[in-house]
Amino acid sequence: MALMNCPECGAMVSDLARRCPHCGLSVRDYVTIEQKVSGIQKQIWTAFALFVLVLFMFVIIKHVVILAAVVAIGWFLFSRLKLWRHLTTRE
Ligand SMILES: [Zn+2]
Repeated sequence: MALMNCPECGAMVSDLARRCPHCGLSVRDYVTIEQKVSGIQKQIWTAFALFVLVLFMFVIIKHVVILAAVVAIGWFLFSRLKLWRHLTTRE
C-alpha cells in the first residue's frame, strides 16, 4: 500500500482506495491503467533493447566475416606468390 497524489484533485490518496475521498475519481481504475501502461512501456523498451542488441551483433558478425574473408584471400594470395617466386627463381 502506498499513498499517491490523486491525478484529478492532487490530494493524497491510498492506491488501494476505490475512489478518491476528495473528488470521487476512481483511483483503482487509474492505478490499473497506469500499471498496464508501465507494463507496455517495459515491453517496448525490452523489444527496443533486443533490437539494438541484434543489430549490434549483426554488425559485429558482418565485420568479423568480412575480416576473415580478407585474411583468407590475403593468405591465399601470399602463399601463391611465395610458391610462384620459389618456382621462378629455381629455374
Ligand atoms: Zn481526487
